[in-house]
Amino acid sequence: MKERRSKEELKRLALEAIDKRREDILALGDDIYSEPELGYKEFKTAKKLTRVFSELGIPFDEGIAITGVKGKLKGRSDAATVGVMAELDSVVSPQHPNADPQTGAAHCCGHNAMMAALAGVAYALTDTDILEDLDGDVALIAVPAEEFVELGYRKTLIEEGKIHFMSGKQEFIRLGVFDDIDVIVMQHTFGGGNEENPLKAMAGESWNGFLGQEVTYIGKEAHAGMAPHSGINALAAAQVGLFAINLQRETFQEKDFVRVHPIITKGGDLVNVIPGEVKIETQIRASTLPAILETAEKVSRSWKAGADALGAKVIIDTLPGYLPVRSNELLVDLTYKNMVELFGEEYVLKDSGHETGSSDIGDVGAILPAIQFRVGGSNNKFHASDFRLLDRDLAYLGAAKLLVMDVIDLLYEGAEAAKKVVEEFEPLYTKEEYLSEWGGIGERFK
Ligand SMILES: [Zn+2]
Ligand SMILES: [Zn+2]
Repeated sequence: MKERRSKEELKRLALEAIDKRREDILALGDDIYSEPELGYKEFKTAKKLTRVFSELGIPFDEGIAITGVKGKLKGRSDAATVGVMAELDSVVSPQHPNADPQTGAAHCCGHNAMMAALAGVAYALTDTDILEDLDGDVALIAVPAEEFVELGYRKTLIEEGKIHFMSGKQEFIRLGVFDDIDVIVMQHTFGGGNEENPLKAMAGESWNGFLGQEVTYIGKEAHAGMAPHSGINALAAAQVGLFAINLQRETFQEKDFVRVHPIITKGGDLVNVIPGEVKIETQIRASTLPAILETAEKVSRSWKAGADALGAKVIIDTLPGYLPVRSNELLVDLTYKNMVELFGEEYVLKDSGHETGSSDIGDVGAILPAIQFRVGGSNNKFHASDFRLLDRDLAYLGAAKLLVMDVIDLLYEGAEAAKKVVEEFEPLYTKEEYLSEWGGIGERFK
C-alpha cells in the first residue's frame, strides 16, 4: 500500500498545480470580467465554469436557482464534505470602462476573482492525486445573485415561481444545496496587497445584517388648490413616518452599528393633486439579529404613526435581507495559519474588525459553519467606476491556494478538523427555522 503523504506534501502539490495552471486561471478570470452579468442572469458566466468542469471530468449539476452550479469531487472516504463557494454575479456601474454597454453591469466587486479561484481549486484537486489522501468530498459551488439589487426583476421571478428568495445563497438554502455540506469556505477580494495597503489577506470578518422594507402609503386624492380638505395626503403621512424614525435615532446604540436609510421612490403623481399614493424603500441594518429586529420594530411603529396621524393607510412589506456575518472561529484559526504560511505574518491580519456592509454568506453561516476570508489584489473602490484589479496573481491564484490549503487541512486524516468544526458549531437557526422565521419575517412587521 502507498505510504500516506504528509499534509505539507499535499499542500505543496496543490500549490504547484495552481501555479502550473496560471495561464488558464488568469484567462478564465479575465474572460468572466469581460462579460459581467447581474444576479439570476449569469448564464454565460456559469457556462464558462462548467466548461472547465467538463474538461476536468468533474460531475456537476447546473441551473440550480436559475444559474447556480455545483460540482462534486470524491475523496478516499466520505467522512465530511467541504463546499468551496464563489459568486457568479456582478454589480452595475455604467461609467466603468469595462461595463457592459447594454446593461451597465461591471465586475466592480471582484466576483470574477472568486470564480477564477474556484477554478484554481478544481485544477489543484484534479491535476494531482491529493484526493486519494483526503477523507472527504469537495463540492465546488458557484452561487448566483449575491448583490441585493434589481428587486423588481427578482420579484417577477418570485411571482413566476422560479425563485423564493432575493439572493442566491438564500435560495440555495431553500433548495437544499447545502444539505450534504458540512463546512463552507469562500473568499472575497479586498483592497490590499498594494502600496496603499500592503496587507495581502485577512482571515476573520464581521458584517452587519439587514432587513429591507417597501412601504406604501395610501391616502385620498383631491384637488390640491380647490379641495385639499377633502383629501388625505399620503406624502404628509410619509413625512410623519420619516420624522418619527429620525426622532428615534438617539436610541440607536453605537455598539449595534445601526443604519436606517430610507428613500422616497414615489412622492405623488401630479403637483395639483393631493398625493394618493407614496412609496418608500428602506434598509434596516445592524450588527446583530436582535438589534435588527428591535430597530425594525421602531421603524415599523413609525410608519404606522404616520398613517394614524393623517388617517391614511400604510402597507409595510418587509423582506429578509442578509443575516449578520460572523466567521467561524476554528475556520479563522486554520485559515490564518495558512495565510501566514503563504504570505508571511507581516502581510496578514487575523481579524479585519466589524464592517457595516452585508453579504448573504451571513445566512449560510447562520446554519452551518462557514468562513469568507479576504484576499487582496484590488484597489478599494468597490461598486464604483474606478474599481480595478491590480494584482491578479494575488486575487485569483493566491485566493485559490488559500482555499485549497483550507480544504486539505479540513479533510486530512479522517477529516478530523472538519468534524471538530461541525461539533463545536452553534447554529443561529436550523434550516427549517431559517425558512419559517427569517423567510417569513414579513409577517412580523405588517
Ligand atoms: Zn459587492
Ligand atoms: Zn462582493
